[in-house]
Order: sequence, then structure tokens, then C-alpha cells
Amino acid sequence: MRTSYSALDTFKMCPKKYKFKYIDYIKEPPAVELFFGSLIHNVLRFLHSNEDRSPALNEIVDYYSKNWQPEDLFQENKEEEKYKFQEGINIITNYYKNHFPSPNKILQLENKFYLPISKEHAISGVIDRIDKISDNVIEIIDYKTNKRVPPQKFIDDNLQLSIYNLAANNLWKDVSKVKLTLHFVKPDFKVSTERTAGQLQEVKKEILNTLSQLQTSKFETRPGIYCDFCGYKNICPLFKDKDRPLESKEKITKLTDEFIELKSNEKEIKVRLEEIREKILRYLKKQSLERIYGTSGNITRKTKRIYDYNHQKIKEILEPLDKFDEVWKIDSPKLKKLLKKLPPEIQNEIEKIRSLKNELNYLIARKN
Ligand code: SF4
Repeated sequence: MRTSYSALDTFKMCPKKYKFKYIDYIKEPPAVELFFGSLIHNVLRFLHSNEDRSPALNEIVDYYSKNWQPEDLFQENKEEEKYKFQEGINIITNYYKNHFPSPNKILQLENKFYLPISKEHAISGVIDRIDKISDNVIEIIDYKTNKRVPPQKFIDDNLQLSIYNLAANNLWKDVSKVKLTLHFVKPDFKVSTERTAGQLQEVKKEILNTLSQLQTSKFETRPGIYCDFCGYKNICPLFKDKDRPLESKEKITKLTDEFIELKSNEKEIKVRLEEIREKILRYLKKQSLERIYGTSGNITRKTKRIYDYNHQKIKEILEPLDKFDEVWKIDSPKLKKLLKKLPPEIQNEIEKIRSLKNELNYLIARKN
């Protein structure tokens, strides 16, 4: 399977979104931040690919202005468009003053790579920029247009940078050190990190693990704060009910509210039931009674005994009778936990031989 970092990242964030985008090929509606990020990337590529003739700042700003074609992204909101356009000018001006010309030799800009991860899987992608720092030492730079700079831990664990490191190692066998940098051009802040050979091995395993989950996924929704920015919100089964006309919603809305109300009292009801059960059981025991009567019915005391068996001994007795398979049962939750710790190929093997026994639908209620 050939995939990309963005696809893997999308799957990890929300399998449903992955399906919309990479399996059903439904185009995500254009978003301001995507348009803006892509234009800034193009401007920086234009700037550095012309480094030998030292273009003036005016020319770069001109290139930016000519390519500012947001179509109807701002929907008549001229003020917002003006603000965003100016933000781009500020970024470019700042960048030009502080980082042009480049102090290092740029080896590649927007480098397309193809990285085999195993016999069956490969990742392709594009690295914004690769610089030569010294002999056998390179720096991979990825531009970000986010406002906020994440903590160092995020950069140290960042899968995208790890994949770029693997791709660089694959491309240049004699490179001894790879510096990985995210350049946040809005606040003009660079954060760098490195990976050890051991960490890169772990990353490969992590990728294979994700790919194995992907191949057996049911592509369920995984909601989070990012849903607010998801381009598939209007077709997502979690949200499309919100837009249904009010008349057709009334009955189900009442049931929904009732369910939420009952669910929110469920805990209190359970606690109270437990308290009463204890008191009644104590009373029945003390009075040597099996049943008590209220005004609306009766309650009977029943005893259910649960035994534990020695697995090995039961096996020894039942196996010769060819009956052991009838009582032997895999503990699914434990197996699920164990699976996560097993190598991807074994996970895959086990997932391939499982069969769906039953599908249980359950409801999660959340009060506003
Ligand atoms: S709206 Fe949220 S849950 Fe639905 S597809 Fe998008 S990210 Fe997933």
C-alpha cells in the first residue's frame, strides 16, 4: 500500500475523515488556512529557487499578490481578506529580512520522496526544503503557518519529521546527521530536533501498526475539537442530524432529550439501588425470609454462585472427550489489549482470522 504522512495523520485523528478523503475521494472544501499555507509555501519556494539572482523584496511581494486568488473563500468578507492578505505580506517581509539569502547551501526544495517501509508498504511525500549544513550533515526544514509554536515534546515525537528523516536516510546513505526543523514563519520561530537510529526503527513499527489498523478498520468517527474545522462535517454521521428541518426532528429530539436526562441520572439511580439492595438483603437474612412484599409487588432473594475452575485440569478432563472447544473461550478485551503490544505482522495475522460474531450498538449521551 502506498500512503502519505497526511493520510496516516488523518486516519489516526479520525478514521471516518480518512475514508471520506482517501477512499471515497470526496474533495474537502477549500479552507482559508489551507489556501494561505499553500501560497506562503509557494512564495518561499519561488524566493529560494531564485536565490542565485537575489530577487528584491518587491518582486517577492509582487509574486505573492499576483497569486492571491482566494476565489470565494472569504465570501464577501473584505475586511477579513484584507487582514489575511496583510498577514502574508508581514510574514514574507520578515522572512526576507531575517532568512534571505540562506546561510546554508540549499540542496533541494519541495523534494518528492518515495520511502519503502516494508515489502508491501511505502510512504510518499514532499519535503519543503533540505539544506547542507556541513559534510554529511543536513537540515530538513518544514514551514508551518500556524500562529502557535507547540512544545518541544511535540517536535521530538513528531511523526512527519521522523518520516522525513527516514526518507533522507534512504536518499543519502552517507549522511551522518539529520537536523529536523519546523520553521513557524508567522511568529518567525524555529524549533529543531533529531532522531536516533533506535527511534527511527520504532517509528517504522508505529507506521506498520497504523497501516495494519487501517487495513482492518471500520472507519468509525472519532470526534474531537478538530471537528469544528473538518470539511466533511456536513456529511459526517455525527453532525448531519443537526441540519435536519425542525418539523421532522421534533419527535426524535424529545426522545434524545429524555435519554440524556435518564442517562445523567443513571449513576444516582445505580447508587440508590445498591443502597436499597444491601438493606433489603440484610433484612431478609436477619428474618430468614426468601421474599418480602411492598404495595406494588414483591422482591425475592435468589442466590447465584460463581465458581472458578482450574483451566489446565478442565482441559485434561474435557479434551479426551472432545468437549473442550465447547467451553474454551478467548477473553476478547484481554486479547485486544495484548494485540497492541504484538508486532504488526502478528496483529495482522490475528485480525485476518477473526470473524464478526455480533455487532452491538450503544449510545453515548452528553449533556450540553
Ligand atoms: S466531523 Fe469530526 S468525526 Fe466527523 S469526519 Fe470530521 S473529524 Fe471525523
